[in-house]
Amino acid sequence: MSDIVVPRSPRALLDAQQAAFRAEGPVSAATRKDRLQRVIDLLVKHNDALCEAMGADFGGRPAVFSMMNDIAGSLGSLKHARDHVEAWLPDQPRPSVAPFDAFGATAWVKYQPKGVVGIIGTWNAPVFTLLSPLASVFAAGNRAVLKPSEIAPRTAEALARAVAECFAPEELAVVTGGPDVAAEFARQPWNHLVFTGSTAVGKLIMKAAAENLVPVTLELGGKSPVLIGQSADIRNAAERIAVGKGLNSGQLCVAPDVAWVHESQLEGLIDSLKDFYAGQYPTIAGNAEVTPVVNERHFARVESYVADAGARGARIVMAGEWPTAEGAAERRMPLRLVVNPPADSEIATNEIFGPALVLRSYRKLAEAVAEINAGERPLALYYFGSDAAEQQWVLDHTLSGGVSINDVTMHPALHDAPFGGVGASGMGHYHGHEGFLEFSHARAVYRAGSHDPRREWGMLPPYSDNFTQMIRAAVAP
Ligand code: NAD
Repeated sequence: MSDIVVPRSPRALLDAQQAAFRAEGPVSAATRKDRLQRVIDLLVKHNDALCEAMGADFGGRPAVFSMMNDIAGSLGSLKHARDHVEAWLPDQPRPSVAPFDAFGATAWVKYQPKGVVGIIGTWNAPVFTLLSPLASVFAAGNRAVLKPSEIAPRTAEALARAVAECFAPEELAVVTGGPDVAAEFARQPWNHLVFTGSTAVGKLIMKAAAENLVPVTLELGGKSPVLIGQSADIRNAAERIAVGKGLNSGQLCVAPDVAWVHESQLEGLIDSLKDFYAGQYPTIAGNAEVTPVVNERHFARVESYVADAGARGARIVMAGEWPTAEGAAERRMPLRLVVNPPADSEIATNEIFGPALVLRSYRKLAEAVAEINAGERPLALYYFGSDAAEQQWVLDHTLSGGVSINDVTMHPALHDAPFGGVGASGMGHYHGHEGFLEFSHARAVYRAGSHDPRREWGMLPPYSDNFTQMIRAAVAP
């Protein structure tokens, strides 16, 4: 361990970690807890430096948000893993094979670490997308190499320094660099690869991993819908959507992307969203509570979506102060509500990932559900309403990575439930017991009993007629 960061290639780190993993043998609960505790201690010690770096990378992200989302969010995952790993570790007895079980044959499932896990993170939650999956990866007894996003370079450097101070590179290491380094990283024969990012890059990752048959966990994005039933309290729904959409200025994988509301309640929703968003952010330009869009490229991307919808006749409503040149120079923008844009417009077809929200009106909720189901499976889905039957119907007739009911963006905070996508929003998950299972190899073990009856029962060649009849009798419904 040292405070000098020695750059090493992904391959050199993978080789060193795999050699250390092989030399280590079984990874005890105490070792796993110690590693988790050292990441916890690292975060506690370096939280200010990391929050300062995240603030600088965004050009003014509020430290309190970084503390809540990235530091406290990661700590929650790490502490849950530390406090439960001992209970997850024991072998699980399973029923053995008849008739050998009658002679003492037993069976169990043993959970073993896969080895070395590569973890690629994003810029929008640059600490959380690395250290929250790491909680499950370490709980499962693996070693890991992290690749932070180049779009948050100060955070990447701060994390690399902190990790080098607290861990030997054979245990946990950080590789920094741009897409070329990321592509090289993805090509390595990891024992498992975790990628958080866009669906487009996720496809490249899976292709690269396929070359070495590396199992992948893909934590991707998409257009997370909100379904507002007619039984919903519109002001309550608007407040929660405004709060969720304000987090990181909509640059969250689970940020509401499109909200569906009954046509009779559309205007009420618009008015309430305006009230609540402007209430949280009375000014935009110069307001240190408003997270800027991370860089010029992403700023131009979101603005082009809004402009395209406006040019094609969609109504654009400002929730919050009218945008100013000063705000734009800081990349701080109010929430734009884009009402019923054309189905093929950019904002209707791309993940927004910024301060804009599509509103769509429906006549029957089932029509909204049918449209959602015709698209890619989303990472998150939200339902607002007090109608229990409708809530159940929505849960039964949709599929998404996770769901929050009568709120948004909350289910990823469940440390004891899997967090992940489905279909185009990803595969696999971390958090909780399911995260431990994701990064463990579940190994079936059979142990023969004291006596083998096969020969005396004519179960071995040459097969007896009795045995043939016994097998025939077993082929039954
Ligand atoms: P991105 O896909 O552009 O980049 C993610 C990571 O991939 C970065 O570390 C980058 O260096 C790396 N990368 C880029 N090109 C690569 C290549 N050719 N080969 C290998 N790696 C490459 O995503 P982003 O802009 O950083 O993040 C935004 C996206 O991430 C959104 O779609 C968002 O929804 C999603 N996201 C998902 C989750 C989740 O938990 N499901 C969390 C945060 C963000």
